Amino acid sequence: MAKKLVYFFGGGKAEGNAKMKNLLGGKGANLAEMANIGVPVPPGFTITTEVCTHYFLNKKTYPKGLKEEVQKALVKVEKLMGKKLGDADNPLLVSVRSGARRSMPGMMETVLNIGLTTKTIPGLIKESGGNERFVYDSYRRLIMMYSDVVMEKAAGIEPEDEEGIRKQLEKIMAKMKTQRGYKGDTDLTAKDLESLCFLFKAKVKEVLKKDFPDDADEQLQGGIRAVFDSWNGKRAVSYRKIEGIPEEWGTAVNVQTMVFGNMGEDSATGVAFTRNPGNGENNFYGEYLINAQGEDVVAGIRTPAPINEYSKSEHNKDLVALEKAMPKPYKELFAIQKRLEKHYKDMQDIEFTVEKGRLFMLQCRIGKRNGPAAVRMAMDMLKEKLIKKEDAVMRVTPSQLDELLHPIIDPKAEKGCQLLAKGLPAGPGGATGQIVFSAVDAVEWKKQGKKVVLVREETNPEDVEGMRAAQGILTARGGMTSHAALVARGWGKCCIVGCGAVHVDYAGKSVRVGDKTFKEGDRLTLNGTKGNVYGGQLPMIDASENKLLNDFLKVCDSIRKLGIRTNAETPADAKRARDFGAEGIGLFRTEHMFYGKGSDEPLFILRKMIISKTEDERKKALEELFPYVKRDIKGTLEAMDGLPVVVRLLDPPLHEFVPRDPAKLEQLAKDLNITLDELAKRADNLHESNPMMGHRGVRLGITYPEVSAMQIRAIFESAAELIKEGKKPYPEIMIPVVCDVKELTDQLAIARQIYQEVLKKYGIKKFKHMLGTMIEIPRAAIVADKIAQEAEFFSYGTNDLTQMCFGFSRDDIGGFVPDYIKKNILPGDPFQSIDQEGVGELIKMGIQRGRKTRKDLEVGICGEHGGEPKSIDFCHRVGMDYVSCSPFRVPIARLAAAQAAIG
Ligand code: PEP
Ligand code: MG
Repeated sequence: MAKKLVYFFGGGKAEGNAKMKNLLGGKGANLAEMANIGVPVPPGFTITTEVCTHYFLNKKTYPKGLKEEVQKALVKVEKLMGKKLGDADNPLLVSVRSGARRSMPGMMETVLNIGLTTKTIPGLIKESGGNERFVYDSYRRLIMMYSDVVMEKAAGIEPEDEEGIRKQLEKIMAKMKTQRGYKGDTDLTAKDLESLCFLFKAKVKEVLKKDFPDDADEQLQGGIRAVFDSWNGKRAVSYRKIEGIPEEWGTAVNVQTMVFGNMGEDSATGVAFTRNPGNGENNFYGEYLINAQGEDVVAGIRTPAPINEYSKSEHNKDLVALEKAMPKPYKELFAIQKRLEKHYKDMQDIEFTVEKGRLFMLQCRIGKRNGPAAVRMAMDMLKEKLIKKEDAVMRVTPSQLDELLHPIIDPKAEKGCQLLAKGLPAGPGGATGQIVFSAVDAVEWKKQGKKVVLVREETNPEDVEGMRAAQGILTARGGMTSHAALVARGWGKCCIVGCGAVHVDYAGKSVRVGDKTFKEGDRLTLNGTKGNVYGGQLPMIDASENKLLNDFLKVCDSIRKLGIRTNAETPADAKRARDFGAEGIGLFRTEHMFYGKGSDEPLFILRKMIISKTEDERKKALEELFPYVKRDIKGTLEAMDGLPVVVRLLDPPLHEFVPRDPAKLEQLAKDLNITLDELAKRADNLHESNPMMGHRGVRLGITYPEVSAMQIRAIFESAAELIKEGKKPYPEIMIPVVCDVKELTDQLAIARQIYQEVLKKYGIKKFKHMLGTMIEIPRAAIVADKIAQEAEFFSYGTNDLTQMCFGFSRDDIGGFVPDYIKKNILPGDPFQSIDQEGVGELIKMGIQRGRKTRKDLEVGICGEHGGEPKSIDFCHRVGMDYVSCSPFRVPIARLAAAQAAIG
């Protein structure tokens, strides 16, 4: 049987349901579900996403039978409504909307009021009780939307920024308002609107060289096609790229009976959330407009009013709440939202319309929320027993969690700072940066390494890439549900909207805020949590101390199977990571003590050791170095008391440490009692053409066993001393850059001997420790069965493993990997997320082979991938024991590991 292409909904039942998102898109599936559970939904039908896929695979043609199915569904709608599309006496009007599997706010097209023609206008006037104003207002909206979406965008016409047909029509309307001295759109009379429609149609003909279609059926066909086309529109494509939405998903098209929020003072339209998406509080929250259509709320042209007391803000506190203005529909709406949340067991984002006092639900979907709200809702719903702990864990994405760890303005600095302006708090956290006025500039400046705040009158979906590139976004217009707010919230980006004190002069590249003027490049600071705007740059601080977050992470801990360790080299970092929940150290890079703060003395001695010519010279330097190495290792073992600490022996090629500064060279020569020439010669000897593949890691220990011995002794003596002090150290000694078991045999013999010596020296019988290796060279993964004869643990060094598996230098990929990604040769940067089909196969093979030899082999990962959610999922699936990442990523790893365990 041929595939069903069209699904009907309405009259208390539907052919689809909420589970059919892939086929019907999110909107279509939820409309069907709402119809099924008896929520008042205007009847309509959904054309499937498969039709979209077919359309693009077949030179923009439809599958066979679509026309007939659409016709059949339309007749059903007409019967239910007792109206007909295009009928002169009793015309049916419909909307045509997009709806992909995942919501893409504002990225695709919508056309409302389809079916209005010169033939149907008188009928609708009669039907609306003689409301000519309403009918001509609907008609002018149809002309604006249809000419923009169908006749211009879908036709592939790309006018200059301010030259689009919609802008031109808006100008005509603005001109009329100025001429007549009107303040708002609602001041336009029926006669004004009628003549506007006339002017609009003439303009459409002049600009687009085509008549505005005066046939209802033609309008419907055009609308459907345009919505499909918008799937491949510029902004939808950029949004998909950013959000990782596959091209082949396609969009569904929903054709639905129009209900009107613009029928007069007893009509309204609004958007609401079953809980506050800005902070997660369990309160019904939303905005609405009297006598308006849905686009007015989202477009941010008029300031929407609050639906109830709770939704009041600085901005709209003087406007009348829906609760007061229309108590009956509000009560009904309140009950429906409760029911929907209970039914879906998640916060819902709903669109509603009141037509002459009668409530209709136009949409419900899972509401986007920022990080703090996501965590709060998850924990609240868990407590309310609405969801299970596994659901709670899946409700927060790693990037949402990241928001909670993001900087805020230092409250001390903010306190004393003069407020410049206040807007709506649409996206959390703080942001500071240089002002730019266009999305293109935001992207460009970011490329130059600058931090920017994007300032706009309002944003529209074309601005997504610039919004992404900016630290924060500030708009003069728009409400909490405007495009800027929705997008920013989805990303957890700092964003303030509806800041009326902001007046942008795009041409002059300046903005007036109150009585101050800022130019492009000047600095602004935003507090997106409060909606506060400040001039200049304020300091930011970390905001990770949060009880709710800790509780949430504990829920994650109760589910995850993977251990979480951290990469840290100092007692301070170790402590911070422990506070974040790290259960040990997965990588202590010994060489880090020779970089940065406090490294002068040990670095000098290390240099002496490197430049030494004889074993004696080297041993003397190593003896000098020993106390420094021991001090750092002991401090870290102590900070991690009771938990495992993997200490890796020296890894980088030695010549990295040779000084270049002449003064330092001179001092070194003096201390070693050699001439500068001799020093230069010895340094030259260390030079390698390809140091990453040169004399590094275990290879140093093979040539200079005394270098390994010193480090191993420092580790074991630290442990022994701590035991004497009543502590429980647990060192794991790790040998890097191994490719053959014999290298390990050589080095671990040294370790075993020193262990015995240390036991004797401290009069201890034994202590807990392990000896193991990194797997970071492809050969090591291949001969892992042999390596496991010596190694008690493996730790995957996926930085080097990726480098050597691809043959891409990890330090030089900037030159070509971006092109690989752009050309779809690589799905992403393999140094960020494990290349599962290549590097991943090696990892799997290494684990299997290693565990064949040693069943209880401990396996972890310490490359950068250990903190990346997709890679963590992979590590879980291949049976690793733990992942290790930088301290700040530990909370994210705890969440990602729990989500991996849920699957
Ligand atoms: C690795 O190679 O993945 C690793 C952790 O070691 P490093 O980055 O220090 O080479
Ligand atoms: Mg490495």
